Amino acid sequence: MWSHCAFIAGVFLLLLSDRRVASEDPETWWSIGQEELRETLRTVRNVNKAKNVVVFVGDGMGVTTVTAARILQGQLKGASGEEGYLYFEKFPHTGLLKAYSNNMQVSESSASGTALFSGQKVNSDTVGLSSKATPKQCRGSQEFSIDGLLQWAQANGKSTGAVTTTRVTHSTPAGLYAHCANEDWEADTDIPSSEQDGHCKDVATQLVETSPGNRLDVLMGGGWTKFLPNVPNAVDGPTMKSGCRADGRNLIEEWLAEKRRRGGNHSFVDSRESLLQVDPKTDSLLGLFSAGAMNPKLGRAESSTEPELKEMAVKAVEILAKNPNGYFLMVEGGLIDDSHHRGLAARALHETIAFAETVQAVDAITNSNDTLLIVVADHSHALIFTGYQKRGTSILGFGSRKLTDQKPFTSLLYLSGKGSSGDVPRRNISADNTTAPDYQQQAFLPTPWAMHLGEDVPIFAKGPWSHLFVGVHEQHYVAHAINYAACLRNDTLTSCDSNDITA
Ligand SMILES: [Zn+2]
Repeated sequence: MWSHCAFIAGVFLLLLSDRRVASEDPETWWSIGQEELRETLRTVRNVNKAKNVVVFVGDGMGVTTVTAARILQGQLKGASGEEGYLYFEKFPHTGLLKAYSNNMQVSESSASGTALFSGQKVNSDTVGLSSKATPKQCRGSQEFSIDGLLQWAQANGKSTGAVTTTRVTHSTPAGLYAHCANEDWEADTDIPSSEQDGHCKDVATQLVETSPGNRLDVLMGGGWTKFLPNVPNAVDGPTMKSGCRADGRNLIEEWLAEKRRRGGNHSFVDSRESLLQVDPKTDSLLGLFSAGAMNPKLGRAESSTEPELKEMAVKAVEILAKNPNGYFLMVEGGLIDDSHHRGLAARALHETIAFAETVQAVDAITNSNDTLLIVVADHSHALIFTGYQKRGTSILGFGSRKLTDQKPFTSLLYLSGKGSSGDVPRRNISADNTTAPDYQQQAFLPTPWAMHLGEDVPIFAKGPWSHLFVGVHEQHYVAHAINYAACLRNDTLTSCDSNDITA
């Protein structure tokens, strides 16, 4: 709990008392600055060994997304919004990462995820292959397979897990465990016949057959179609749903069989209800809750059987934390990116708030003395926050300046995407309900899918050696710093080394 929460609550109430004009007196602003200084001075370096590591990836969560989500979070509670913080923004150490890939100025999730988890920049669209690999070319690619945090953690006897709101075979989680020349080769039917030479396994198959994927203790998210044959009800199994596989395999059954072979308790769940009933004493857990990516939080049907990201993450920690050697867990807020691609700012911001609440829930059940928490974005996104609105203006509302075309605009816009009018004059949006859950903000460049941004992305850290994540760094530095803090590889310098340069 933050030491100055009572003070913040006071400011919050003060703001609530006058919602028409969000304004504080000079003494209040001075006090806020003094309190922030005192809190910063109280920050102590934690140089314990990081027994446990949790990396939270906000897919596409650039700085503008963080700012806008912070304001929306406050406004949903009746405050002006600007004065608040997302939970992880109060972590003691913050930095920036240069997110370009080995071959591209503007990166994407597979190369960014691989960089974060392996300690090497790689080519865009590839997963778990070094910079020597040619994107989308299967032949010969496997010789460029690289290992990373998952292998290193498993080699140290730690438990490992991955949780996402997208498909568990999607780019970011795949960056943890898979080796693939194309991030899109998630099932056998995703690999074109020209590249099917018998050597390249699809990502879902790697989860069942290949280390380190098949040694994950906990895996949860969406995407069961990638695991099941495409003949409806052809194979008896824990689910009777039809998938997209042409090889007739039921990889969920195979996953369970593999865990049975290794011994211990194991569970498969496909609904929130069954997830919440899982006994944390279970040794391994596979949860697949939707055919494709899970549904975004905003606008999700009341009848939905999908769990919250927070519920998946907490269950994962409860299961993994039994290991006396510790654990490594990746938690992805994967629908921030998806919502931005569609130009739907309200959805993206609600996903970001749910992501921050997930970080808070995990922080509440872990200990900063031995658990390193890292919150990071893999790349930025096309969201823009502009205009000169008064404090307290709805972040999903209109901007306040008159434009030369005399038409209104929203505070949040997209640089590219479907919201663009192309060559014709932009539409007059004065009658639009801009706060609707599916409102598509206007965009500048006409593309069917909003493009990522190439700017640096934020990183926030708390726990052992979190001060290593201060400053501007290359994205792949993150894996090196985690390895140092958690003493994973004995062939590199770590904080456990008696020759440590910081000793
Ligand atoms: Zn994306």
